[in-house]
Amino acid sequence: MNVIIHPAARADAQANLQRTVLSGVQFDSALQEALGDDSKFVAPAIDNGVLRLYGTNPGAKDGKRAKFAEISPGDIVAFNWNGAFRATARVVHTLESPAVAGLMHWGTFEVSGGAQQPFQLIYALTDVVALARPVRYDTMQTRLLGVGSGKFDNQSWNVITDARAAAMARELGTPTTPVRTAAPVPVEAPTAVDDADDTQTDIDRMARARREQARIRRHVVIGAQTECALCLRVYPSMFVWAAHIKPRSECSDAERNRVTDIGMAACTFGCDQLYEQGLLTVNASGLVIVADRGPATGAVADYLRQFVDTPRVCRAWDPANTHRVGFFAWHRTRAFTM
Ligand SMILES: [Zn+2]
Repeated sequence: MNVIIHPAARADAQANLQRTVLSGVQFDSALQEALGDDSKFVAPAIDNGVLRLYGTNPGAKDGKRAKFAEISPGDIVAFNWNGAFRATARVVHTLESPAVAGLMHWGTFEVSGGAQQPFQLIYALTDVVALARPVRYDTMQTRLLGVGSGKFDNQSWNVITDARAAAMARELGTPTTPVRTAAPVPVEAPTAVDDADDTQTDIDRMARARREQARIRRHVVIGAQTECALCLRVYPSMFVWAAHIKPRSECSDAERNRVTDIGMAACTFGCDQLYEQGLLTVNASGLVIVADRGPATGAVADYLRQFVDTPRVCRAWDPANTHRVGFFAWHRTRAFTM
């Protein structure tokens, strides 16, 4: 989970925040049209016909874009002005759209060189909270002493992706458990442990896993619709997970960094879990096969039977890709036969 620091001190930012986040805007046909395919992904954020959106500009030399790409559903936006963090919200979906920014009448921001940029890097938000007790910057800085790189900059829009994020979320009173929504995160929620060093290690590990997941997802989930590599059904992308072909926990650092080879799209309706449990795998010819030890009757058996009745070649299978062939072989010989 990340925390996005979003300064909103300027008068226009204050007005925009009040109007399109704290009050929210009607999800009408014009907004739906401007959102296009993103409409489906913002749907969980619509409450009684009201959608809450806010955005930032790409920045000089598009400097914010890479950071923006790090944001995942479940991340927390911390709005700050006048010396304190004063409102929080949770990200449901991110999108880039000058058209939506125009429709929101957010205006533009002048970057160095004089260009006017719309606030086109947009998040759809839920769980918007105006903090009854704002958290002052100096309080937050004190709390972060010794956490990650410590200090943060309250003047600049930024995405905190390291160990500071969980500490900031706690201080802001927002739950740190990742929410499994549009781009779910394959890490366990932080568990209470006695040893502070262990907590630190867990948080670091989670942050690293989340960054890897986002990188892999960019290669396997492209656009609003994604085909599951195992059942070959096409789902809205929010129901498709970027799965590790070889379990992440078993991968070396070098293997984890093979982001173009290690991942495949797996639907959360069953294929992702069945593959993870080793009840489904991919054989040396690329066929999706079912483990003999799977149940013979019941809902899981019904699901697995489709692969027997209608054999299919895994979409992520590529005999020319030796890395991928190796990852599938690991799964077939280790996870599948357990
Ligand atoms: Zn599937």
